[in-house]
Amino acid sequence: VNEAARSRAAGPAPSDRFPAPGIRRGARKYDVTVCGAGFAGAVLAERLAEASGKRVLVVDRRDHVAGNAYDHLDEAGILVHRYGPHIFHTNSDEVVRYLSRFTAWRPYEHRVLAQVGDRRVPMPINRTTLNALYGLDMSTDAEAAAFLARLAEPVAEIRTARDVVVNAVGTRLYETFFQGYTRKQWGLDPSQLDKSVTARVPTRTSDDDRYFTDSFQAMPREGFTRMFERMLDHPNIDLALGVDFHELPAQDRGALTVYTGPIDAYFGHRFGPLPYRSLQFRHETVDRRRFQEVAVVNYPAEDVAWTRITEYKHLTGQVHPRTSITYEIPSDEGEPYYPIPRPENQALFKRYEALADAEPDVIFAGRLGSYRYYNMDQVVGQALSVHRRMAERMAAGGSA
Ligand code: FAD
Ligand code: UDP
Repeated sequence: VNEAARSRAAGPAPSDRFPAPGIRRGARKYDVTVCGAGFAGAVLAERLAEASGKRVLVVDRRDHVAGNAYDHLDEAGILVHRYGPHIFHTNSDEVVRYLSRFTAWRPYEHRVLAQVGDRRVPMPINRTTLNALYGLDMSTDAEAAAFLARLAEPVAEIRTARDVVVNAVGTRLYETFFQGYTRKQWGLDPSQLDKSVTARVPTRTSDDDRYFTDSFQAMPREGFTRMFERMLDHPNIDLALGVDFHELPAQDRGALTVYTGPIDAYFGHRFGPLPYRSLQFRHETVDRRRFQEVAVVNYPAEDVAWTRITEYKHLTGQVHPRTSITYEIPSDEGEPYYPIPRPENQALFKRYEALADAEPDVIFAGRLGSYRYYNMDQVVGQALSVHRRMAERMAAGGSA
């Protein structure tokens, strides 16, 4: 029934998995149709199949599973992320427990350097960053805190992505690290974006140079795609790749739909398109063992087109005589990667959300379905709690 599962059991090379788009399905009706094989769609499909005994069809218009977390071997045989670097980190034990059923982990703590002039300094800003830029020799948190307090320019009401940073570190460091990067990344000035955007990045007085401080930081040992394959390898799940949900024949639709694509697309952009930011990825392989000191180097200067360069071997621990890297160049055109957090977009989303609330048989989830700037673990957490609510309703005698 599930040809994809059969071919996986034979153990093909990673780049040969799911080669041919097209519907793989048995002659049967489905209870649930899931649009999207990313984190939101895969977790909900797995839960509905395994815990609720539903027959599930998962469709994705791409020719692979894993959504934006998709990784694969490139031509040189190096494991790369097609849609930019994905680093897993979370404080949720429930999310770790759940995903650990489908993967082992490789411990990995992410570190990022920012290119400032001709030097590279830790990002997020920490004591080492301050010492390097200001020619200081501070050795305690207290000294760094006192120094930052002198730089900070308190903002009475913190509303925007600019306010957050200027309030913490003042105008000069804001301009050095955040202004250009954010203008490139979002095509907007930080003063036009919600404070939540830059609040993701802390300021430190310690010399901790990790990008994240979450209790769990690790990469799926065999990659994200392999983890998704295991998640979806279930007798109750069929998978149709290279298929657009909106073109699915009526007989393949279940009574229930889980939709993880852009919510405005589901409703035919009735109120006008929701804005998303996209990226162009420039993937390269270079004839060196190492390209840069850490997995990611950020380029905050506005006169450089890319925001960052990633070198994957740091993330995966792969040993290879060459190395593969990706430049990220933000753009308005292309796949919708980022919902853009700002009040007017949230207001437009609310109008779509009201339409969604009026469709009890369609569940919207994930980054695009919820129009939220979610990390992977947040999407998994959301999907698990959506399933819990559905299971309660089913137990109470409702449809789902
Ligand atoms: P997606 O992964 O986008 O999956 C949605 C799927 O739906 C897609 O595969 C799409 O093809 C499919 N689809 C949409 N419309 C249709 C349709 N009409 N018919 C059929 N299929 C359709 N998170 C982290 O935690 N750590 C990171 O380091 C990190 N780095 C990131 C870097 C980049 C460059 C980007 C863009 C995101 C990053 N994220 C990171 C966020 C992470 O990608 C998301 O949280 C996660 O992938 C969202 O999962 P999802 O299932 O909601 O959406
Ligand atoms: N940011 C920045 N300079 C940096 C890193 C981040 O200006 O060196 C801003 C930028 O607006 C970015 C946001 O902070 O979009 C959030 O950064 P994060 O690394 O969390 O973004 P992600 O790549 O995870 O989407």
